[in-house]
Order: sequence, then structure tokens, then C-alpha cells
Amino acid sequence: MKVVIIGTGPTAITVAKELRRLGYREKIVMLSKESFPPYSPPLMLDYLKSKGESKLVFWKGIKPFNSLDIDCLFNSPALLVDTKSQLVFTPNKELHYDYLVIATGAELWSPVRCDIKDNDLPYYDFKSLASVNNLIKHIKSGIKSAVIIGGGFIGLEVAISLNEMGINVLLVEKEPQLLPQMLSRVTSKFVKDSLISQGIKLYLSSKAKSITKDGPDYKLILEDGGSIKADVFIAATGISPNVSFLKDSNIKINSGILVDEFLKTNIPNIYAGGDVVETPDLISKKVYPHATFREAIKHGNIIASNILGYNLVNYGDVKINSLYHFGLPLVSGGVQVNELEPDDEIVFSKDGIYKHILLKDKKVIRFEFWGDIKGCGLIANYMEQKRDFDNILYSRLK
Ligand SMILES: Cc1cc2nc3c(=O)[nH]c(=O)nc-3n(C[C@H](O)[C@H](O)[C@H](O)COP(=O)(O)OP(=O)(O)OC[C@H]3O[C@@H](n4cnc5c(N)ncnc54)[C@H](O)[C@@H]3O)c2cc1C
Repeated sequence: MKVVIIGTGPTAITVAKELRRLGYREKIVMLSKESFPPYSPPLMLDYLKSKGESKLVFWKGIKPFNSLDIDCLFNSPALLVDTKSQLVFTPNKELHYDYLVIATGAELWSPVRCDIKDNDLPYYDFKSLASVNNLIKHIKSGIKSAVIIGGGFIGLEVAISLNEMGINVLLVEKEPQLLPQMLSRVTSKFVKDSLISQGIKLYLSSKAKSITKDGPDYKLILEDGGSIKADVFIAATGISPNVSFLKDSNIKINSGILVDEFLKTNIPNIYAGGDVVETPDLISKKVYPHATFREAIKHGNIIASNILGYNLVNYGDVKINSLYHFGLPLVSGGVQVNELEPDDEIVFSKDGIYKHILLKDKKVIRFEFWGDIKGCGLIANYMEQKRDFDNILYSRLK
């Protein structure tokens, strides 16, 4: 039996590790479209701040290809999957599989046009180590200013990191608040005040349209006609699952790959997990890509077990995000803003601490903690187990 895994991100690595842990001794082949050893995307922020010196970004301690006995083919993107003959095509190989795991993650989704053809266009994303390496190269050549497009959690973390590196940072967000899907307006205001106090300039309710050149300068054009000059531009405008190579494969796709509760696609011997799939939300039941590290690891573990016949069920996913770069901690979890109507709320507020909890039928459906994250593990547990909010939880949070 041969397992082929497309991708080398957290989902893919977890599948391979777990297969070996469960005693699978046959062949595992991993396909990477990149030239780097497997790395952890969240740690790219520390890598940026160390200007490429910190090697923590690479999966430490695992040495996946030696100790796990895996054939990893670098610079080998999957271009096509033929589900009838069970073949994956790369630019210079075709590989037969008995089980296929699709763990290709997501790429940048960007509405920003580039109006000029310029190989040196200083426009980067934060979705691959190659792009971050190019940005670091540019920073080392000496830059003074950066524009971040997008006020979601990746945009904010990049903004704070560059600001800490002594670069003037301006962040553009199309909505009137930061982290619009993740936070209520009150918690978002704390984040905004914190960024401003750190010296980051904010353009809220401003839609980025295109990047162009004005003499020697590059500038971002806004939909309202305004423009912002900067040395570099970094897009953090959202993500889109990496599925284009599956176009003619008969695998069912909406925006991401559709999977059942066993994380199996509509083709029996093909599984998919991580940022590339759409899964039901554990609380709202709405189906969409959850795209968090925690769910990627969970999916990887479930897929490995199910390839070996254990039939583990994924009951649904939860989004929990944390930002640790503010000086004050922020954690939010549960349904997205406006995804499900709450019928009650609880607020704890004192001296730089704000905890906002939304309830429906006495169950936690979303929480936002700012300034003090005590109890966030317990509340996540209550939420996932659908336990009624009670005095035990109340006393841990206050
Ligand atoms: C900067 C940053 C910070 C983040 N911080 C957090 C955080 O704090 N908390 C959190 O929960 N989540 C965070 N995330 C999200 C988290 O990293 C992802 O949810 C997780 O990496 C998903 O894992 P994955 O294996 O599904 O996909 P990915 O990590 O995206 O890996 C997919 C891999 O597949 C490869 N690939 C794509 N197409 C092909 C192809 N055709 N052939 C071969 N290989 C291919 C890609 O090159 C990539 O290496 C962050 C992400 C980023 C970028």
C-alpha cells in the first residue's frame, strides 16, 4: 500500500507522523511545491523579525524525512490528479497511490491589481516562506516604510512585527474596524488603540484598489481616489483554498474541498484536511474553511487513523485565534461575528481587561478575551462540549 500526501504543511506532516506512530510501515511519498524543508507558517513572523536567522520556523525535533522514512519530492507541485487510474502528475513524474491525502492549504486571495509590469514590484504576501524571504531581502537593502493591506490577524501581526523592526507602518482595512470577522466593535477598539499607541497608522474604511508607480516611487491607489506611497506593500487580504490542480479530477469542491465526517472526499481512497477543506462549524453548523493550525493538526490525526481503518469522526471545527504580539494578550473563539444570533451576553470589564461572552440557549457560542486570558482553555472546552454556562465557569473568568 502506498500513501501519497500532497503538501508539507502542518496537516501533511501530522498525517505522516501519525501514520508512522500507528505502525504503518509501508511507503509514504510527500509532494512539496517548495524547495524548503517543512515549516510552520505562524513562526514565519519570528523568522521575519530575526531577518531570516531564526531556524525555529522549520519543524524542530522531527527531522521528518529521516526519522519517519518518507520520500519527499521538493519543487514537485501536483499539477493534476487522475482519480480513475489513481495517479498524481508533477512536472516530471507520475505517481501511483493507493491512498491520496490532499493537504495543499490555501493561497492569498487578493482583490488588489498590479497596474504595472515590474519584476521588482515590492509587493509581497505572507503565505509562503519564499515570499517572506524576498521581503527580508528587501528589508535588508534598507527600507523606511511599509503598507499592510488587510486588518485581519495576519495583517496585524505583520504590521506589529515590522513596526518593532523600526519601519514606519501604515495599515489599510476596508471595514470600519480591525479584525472584523473575529471581534466585536468594543474589543476591536482596544486593539486599535494599542496599535495607534505603538505608532502604527491606520486607514480604516479604505479599500485598496491597485499598486502603481509614480516616477521612482511605488504607491497604493485607494478606491476613494487617495493614494499612499511606501517602499513595500504586503497583502493580507484573505485566503483561498489551493484547489486549482483538481479542476478535472471529479473531486467535489465548493470554495474548498468538500469532505464527509471522516474527512474523506467523494472519492473513497482520497482524504483532505487543513486549510484546503470546508467543514461544518461545530456550533453554527455552517460549512466553510476554518483555516486554523489547531484544526489542521486535528485533521491530520483523523486522516491518518482513518486510512488505517479506525473510522474516527470529525464532529465539526471551531475557530480559535490568539494574538500574542500586543503586549496584552487577545484570544477569541467560536462563531464569526454575525454568524449566529446570540440570546444573551456576559461582560467582565476592569482595568485593561475585557471579556465578552455570547450565549445561545445558555451555551457559549463566542468569546473574546482582552488583557487577561485566564479561563480561555476552560471556556473553549465548555463551548466545544456544549455545556451550559455555569457558576464554575463564571468564577474562573471573573
Ligand atoms: C503568518 C501566519 C500566521 C498564522 N498564525 C496562526 C495562528 O496564530 N494560529 C492559528 O491557528 N493559525 C495560524 N495560521 C494559519 C495556520 O498556519 C494554517 O491554518 C495551517 O498552516 C494550515 O495547515 P495546512 O497544512 O492545511 O496548510 P499550509 O500550512 O498552507 O500548507 C500547505 C502546503 O501545501 C503546499 N502546496 C500547495 N499546493 C501544492 C501543490 N499543488 N503541490 C504540492 N504542494 C502544494 C504549500 O506550498 C504548503 O507548503 C497562520 C498562518 C500564517 C500564514
